[in-house]
Amino acid sequence: MKWLYNFLVKVVDDGWCAKMGCTTCGSLKFRATLISNLNCYKNIPEISKMSEYREGNLTSPVYCKLDMNVKKKIVEEIVKEIN
Ligand SMILES: [Zn+2]
Repeated sequence: MKWLYNFLVKVVDDGWCAKMGCTTCGSLKFRATLISNLNCYKNIPEISKMSEYREGNLTSPVYCKLDMNVKKKIVEEIVKEIN
C-alpha cells in the first residue's frame, strides 16, 4: 500500500478536518502532516525547520508558505505517489 492512500484513510477514519478554506482550523493538521510525510520534508532542512505544533498536532509547514522550488518538489512527489 502506498503511504498517501493510508494517510488519507487515516484522515477520514480519525475525522481530521480537510475542508478546503476552513475558517475554523485552516485544516492545518491535515495540510502540515501531509507535507511531513513527503521525502522532501525529510530531505530539505528549510522545510522541516518550519515545523510548528499546537496541542501536539503539527500545524506547519503548509504549502502556501513554501517557496516555488519546494512547491514544485511537493507536486512532483505527490504526482509520483498517485501514479
Ligand atoms: Zn477545520
